[in-house]
Amino acid sequence: MLLTVPNGTARAWIERKYLPALRRNLSREFSAELQVELVIRKRAQKAERAETEASREERPQASRSGGVRPALSAFFAPLPLNPRYGFENFVEGSNSRFAAAAARAVAADPGAGFNPLFIYGSVGLGKTHLLHAIGLAVQAARPTYRVAYVSAETFTSHFITSLRERRQDEFRRTYRGVDVWLVDDIQFIADKTGTREEFFHTFNELYLTNRQIVMAADRPPRDLRLQEERIRTRLESGLMVEVSAPNLETRVAILEQRARLEGADVPAEVLLRVAQTVTGSVRVMEAALIRILALASLNRCPITGGLAERALGAFVPAEQVAALGAGVVLAAVCRHFQVSQEAVTGPRRDRATAQARQVAMYLLRNLSRLPLTEIGALFGGKTHSTVLYSCEKTASALKADPGLAEQVAQLRRQLGGESTGPRE
Ligand code: ADP
Ligand code: MG
Repeated sequence: MLLTVPNGTARAWIERKYLPALRRNLSREFSAELQVELVIRKRAQKAERAETEASREERPQASRSGGVRPALSAFFAPLPLNPRYGFENFVEGSNSRFAAAAARAVAADPGAGFNPLFIYGSVGLGKTHLLHAIGLAVQAARPTYRVAYVSAETFTSHFITSLRERRQDEFRRTYRGVDVWLVDDIQFIADKTGTREEFFHTFNELYLTNRQIVMAADRPPRDLRLQEERIRTRLESGLMVEVSAPNLETRVAILEQRARLEGADVPAEVLLRVAQTVTGSVRVMEAALIRILALASLNRCPITGGLAERALGAFVPAEQVAALGAGVVLAAVCRHFQVSQEAVTGPRRDRATAQARQVAMYLLRNLSRLPLTEIGALFGGKTHSTVLYSCEKTASALKADPGLAEQVAQLRRQLGGESTGPRE
């Protein structure tokens, strides 16, 4: 059963105060389990949208005039879409066919079918690409639709800004006025109650007014550590699709199309070799291809198997993380434990920071070929033996604490380093 209300405030209030009683009484009256939903009346909705529209139009002007304080919604601008991440550049394999089909369906008719759409899978497998593809397709087909692509981190920082700058109204108008809401990496939604509340309300508002919501995360909703049952239930009420690692054939096809995009003519033998050698994320595999192209162009030599061999030296599976660089490992660990890189590489000694630091050292030792002294240098000049001690401490903590072991295993998977055993 749908009930209309004049605005979001009325709805939030009725929802909180009366909805359970309403549902109970109506269900009793009709002797059936009734679902009751509150929707905002069209007219109010339109006015609200027009208002956001007006404030959006101020944005370019304000930025052009330089010194003027930017228009309110410039504070909450979504992230840009990458034109290279269209559906036409997405190679479907058995690992991604379902996800891509769902994404296409959503793009063709936003808000009508699969809502919310939840895409999950580990890092570098094309989730962000699919979110952008949806956004680009909607923008092309429906220029009046407001498409907002944000990461959970952007949402969090926008929300915090809105509190600090006392711009909550503007924040809500902006966020609740979108037609297609694409939220990336929602595992990074801040663990603060306020942010999650706001996230839930935004989600609810958009959901109940049939706006399209698409989310991506590195794990399914049940593993998101969302304490609020209601958010998880809502996420699970839509369509959940997984992207997994592509098989060899698909990896070759992805490389072929990437080479085409780069305008490079790469022999099939070389593509196959790359796809066979670099088995982690698509991102790392693409990096390997780009490296080969760069080598060929710098040395002005043809792209051959021999050249690929040399370029791939850095990409043997055990070294995929080394190729990504220590910064990536550090960033992943910090995000996972929700501590700042500054804290982890600095002198702080509180429990959370110390644990993140030890895990980071342990993963760097096991996933990269960095010497212990270099790892120590990343952490404010710690000595070889301090790093060694930390790694050993972590190794025994992993044996004693299955929860921590699972978290570290997850980080390893995320970093594409599962093929490397620990270096004892
Ligand atoms: P995720 O968000 O899952 O971590 P991305 O969407 O950022 O991964 O993908 C990483 C890189 O790999 C991007 O450059 C993306 O274009 C590319 N990529 C991943 N999967 C595919 C695919 N199926 N077809 C074409 N490119 C892909
Ligand atoms: Mg991504």
